[in-house]
Amino acid sequence: MTILQFEVFSGGTVSFDLETCARCETKACVAACSAPNLNCAITLQDGLPALRMTPEAAAKGGCVECLACELACATDGLGGISWSLPMPELDEYLRETKAQGIVPGFERS
Ligand code: SF4
Ligand code: SF4
Repeated sequence: MTILQFEVFSGGTVSFDLETCARCETKACVAACSAPNLNCAITLQDGLPALRMTPEAAAKGGCVECLACELACATDGLGGISWSLPMPELDEYLRETKAQGIVPGFERS
């Protein structure tokens, strides 16, 4: 599997499965990242998503972590993008609720 991966300022990681992206006709992630007011961190290169800056620049905030690419991929793409973002407070909350035997979710009436 060919992967495009880069780190972002929060310490998270963005990964593109380029084999999936090769089959994606919309490349909706790139269009979303090109919207006004975003940094255009990704672009198309040889028909595939690619960083438009160095990985170091992306990690310093060049990718603003707006998640527009993620949303666009989920709605109009093939699900080739995945994010891993550090959420220590959520991890702690889930640890505590699990220890109490509570399963987080919606209450059903
Ligand atoms: S929209 Fe999703 S599947 Fe399509 S090119 Fe972008 S990341 Fe890949
Ligand atoms: S999170 Fe925003 S700035 Fe970063 S690659 Fe996705 S759309 Fe572009």
